Amino acid sequence: MKISDLLRDNIRNLRPYVSARDECERIDMTYLDANECPFGMYNRYPDPYQKELKAIISDIRGIAAKNIFVSSGSDEIIDHLFRAFCIPGVDKSICFTPGYAMYEVSAEINNVDIVKIPLNEKFQIDIVALNNYLHDPTMKLMFICSPNNPTANLIDRNTIEYILNHFNGILVLDEAYIDYSLESSLVKWVENYPNLFVLQTLSKAWGLAGVRVGMGFGNLEIIEVLNKMKAPYNVSQLSQQIASDTLKNISDYKANVNLILSERKRVESALKQVEYVKKVFPSDANFLFVIVDDADKRYQKLKDHKIVVRNRDAIYKNSLRISIGAPQENDYLINAMYDEK
Ligand SMILES: *Cc1c(COP(=O)(O)O)cnc(C)c1O
Repeated sequence: MKISDLLRDNIRNLRPYVSARDECERIDMTYLDANECPFGMYNRYPDPYQKELKAIISDIRGIAAKNIFVSSGSDEIIDHLFRAFCIPGVDKSICFTPGYAMYEVSAEINNVDIVKIPLNEKFQIDIVALNNYLHDPTMKLMFICSPNNPTANLIDRNTIEYILNHFNGILVLDEAYIDYSLESSLVKWVENYPNLFVLQTLSKAWGLAGVRVGMGFGNLEIIEVLNKMKAPYNVSQLSQQIASDTLKNISDYKANVNLILSERKRVESALKQVEYVKKVFPSDANFLFVIVDDADKRYQKLKDHKIVVRNRDAIYKNSLRISIGAPQENDYLINAMYDEK
């Protein structure tokens, strides 16, 4: 399988915009090339390839900087991938349900068909249901979210390996929640599988949802395509700076993740005592997937207590997705749920 054969013709042939700072990297120059204002703190365009930030990510994840793409949130990368690989109205994609809704929305925006395959009763991928699609030459993208949103479980890595060995398109593995899992990331696999593209984000475990920094890891050919397609200055100087500073502070990150993990355990056992809670699924993420007697009613009752959770009834009967908050927020939740009959 060749990546370039999967690309849309217009993207394969794209001649990218060359930005002013691409051609000259030295800092001791007089810059009169980009029509910037000469005054102020944020007057210069940021590094288009986020070199400092990528060097830090590279250290933490053990992946060469040239195999990393940084964007304004990982949702933006999902859209890039559709535009790179899928001819609107012709090519197709696959996702699994219940799953993350953005894959479908992005497919629809790009006018690309998305086949939705139900996960089995253990929320795992049923290879038999998938087999028909693996060799379809118009099937360009497959999205696997692990740990999965909203079901909170990891997808079996043998299944992922099987798909990588048999699928003729690109497998996009969304690891937004991997930092909360005891299992390690599969990001290293991009070194062996040219058709694997891994998404991660600073929006969850790193606490930077407001800053908008997402990361993609893949082989050089895919990264180069994304670099050609992206807006020249796609990550602001402020975002790059805050992301770099945050990633250098590993001890805060670890403390936060550990606190969330112990709170997850506490909330999980507390919710299991609630009479109308039918099931709390095991979680590898910073949220719990909970089945109640009547999701619409319980959702509304919690809202009356000024607590907002995610009602997922529409995609899985009577399910709620509940984020793990700070200890006091979790106390509010537990008390509110114990209050209701
Ligand atoms: C939260 C989340 C993301 C992160 O999106 P950003 O745009 O990086 O904030 C990606 N995938 C899944 C499944 C998520 O739940």
